[in-house]
Amino acid sequence: MDLSGNLARHELVNCLKGEGPDRNLFDAADTVLRKRVGPTVYLRGLVEISNKCRKNCFYCGLRKDNNSISRYTIPFEEIVDCLESGYSKGLRSFLLQSGELLGKRHIELIERVLKWSMSNLPDVKMVLSVGELRFEEYDRLLHAGAHRYLLRIEASSPELYSKYHPPDEIHSYQARLKNLEYLRNSGWQTGTGVLIGLPGQTEEDLADDLLFMRDMDIDMIGMGPYIENRKTPLWERMNELPSTDDRILLTLRMIALSRLLMPRVNIAATTALQTVSSDGLERGLLAGANVVMPNLTPPAYRENYNLYHGKAFVGDTFEEIIENLNRRSRSIERIVDISNPGDPLHFSDRMQVQQEESNEKQ
Ligand code: SAH
Ligand code: SF4
Repeated sequence: MDLSGNLARHELVNCLKGEGPDRNLFDAADTVLRKRVGPTVYLRGLVEISNKCRKNCFYCGLRKDNNSISRYTIPFEEIVDCLESGYSKGLRSFLLQSGELLGKRHIELIERVLKWSMSNLPDVKMVLSVGELRFEEYDRLLHAGAHRYLLRIEASSPELYSKYHPPDEIHSYQARLKNLEYLRNSGWQTGTGVLIGLPGQTEEDLADDLLFMRDMDIDMIGMGPYIENRKTPLWERMNELPSTDDRILLTLRMIALSRLLMPRVNIAATTALQTVSSDGLERGLLAGANVVMPNLTPPAYRENYNLYHGKAFVGDTFEEIIENLNRRSRSIERIVDISNPGDPLHFSDRMQVQQEESNEKQ
């Protein structure tokens, strides 16, 4: 099989089914990575600012109806302490993540943090992953100093999506898609991704997810294995899950195929992948990922941000995390550039095309 960026759907399906040697697939992805984006690994310091959520996604431990966790929102001062401390150690990109909330106070908190960081840490790139908002709020947060937004489509097939989020007034595939399109068209460096190994999902679905992300022209990808959570409705379908090893392999194949199809995007080696595989970090990077998100959330809050069971921690202190990342990346000939904000090159390519198109029209 020709492992170029022109892989057809049936070839993607074959690779996902493991019908070619994985070694060839991962090597091809590594070659593309080194040639088109380079060996650098970029970091984003993750702060899980709130675990409150208005949604009820069937797979997620933060879902509104899960009464077994204590809900928190980290106060402004503590959030900026996390950022300041990460900054003093060299980090230049931070990700604020939370459940989905539309309340005024939540948006104001995010806006305040962004404005603070714009005036106090002007050389950082701020990333948001806070679910679907109103369009004017995306504009407001971009204006307040954010640069990137991650909104996973979760499953690009509307039928599959509605199995994990039965449609009602707040769960809608069309709304999610419109939000993603809005972000991509309004100046955000835009990321998306899917859950891998959900009960009922096929390799064909995953191949379509890859084509969806390519056709959406997105800049960043964050995707990881689905990990079961006892406190969610999907727990009932445990017996339909691929084995953990299969979910790991599927995730690595998805990363490698993304790198082949979309050479210049940023791809994360996610915490979920690191949770199910002790060497998930190295394996994710070797398959073509180039972003890692060390967790800066204060431990007292962290234990209640349980999307799934057994979330991985790569060391306790920040120094340990970085030391660990450096050592593990070096062992596979990759370099962590802690202070590089790491803009996705695909975004500059996309902006250039847009500029050329608008020049042609004039
Ligand atoms: N609330 C926001 C962002 C926080 S959730 C949103 O939904 O967009 C971040 C991601 O965690 C989700 O996009 C989802 O893909 C992932 N996630 C949730 N539950 C999970 C599980 N059980 N296993 C693996 N990933 C999960
Ligand atoms: Fe809420 Fe996001 Fe979890 Fe869905 S995935 S329940 S929106 S935190």
